[in-house]
Amino acid sequence: SGQAYDSNNIFGKILRGEIPCHRVYEDADTLAFMDVMPQSPGHLLVLPKAPSRNILDADPAVLSKVIPVVQKLARAARQAFEADGITVIQFNEPAAGQTVYHLHFHVVPRYEGQPLKP
Ligand code: 5GP
Repeated sequence: SGQAYDSNNIFGKILRGEIPCHRVYEDADTLAFMDVMPQSPGHLLVLPKAPSRNILDADPAVLSKVIPVVQKLARAARQAFEADGITVIQFNEPAAGQTVYHLHFHVVPRYEGQPLKP
């Protein structure tokens, strides 16, 4: 089994209203806001409010609620930012590039001939 959820993470603080975010969507189970260091214009993050560290410890019932919101916001971002495509990605544990330990999905608008910033 993996590491336990630690609510002392930056997205936990955002979810508790302790630090601000540019919110783009919220419902009873889900919050979405703009990434503070966007990989492209319109890069946003979608989080279940439930305390999961990442996809490895998440309850499938939590995933079943957040994924339709990821889809909704991917569609909205494609329209709003006139993207040619959308990358949806998420990272699990440091070796995979995770830096904030509350489950989140990246929705990244993509443009023909424009690779992501390193
Ligand atoms: P990951 O854990 O998915 O590798 O990276 C966390 C993501 O959260 C990064 O894209 C980073 O720019 C974003 N991020 C980190 N701290 C904050 C913050 O305080 N506010 C917002 N809106 N995004 C953040």
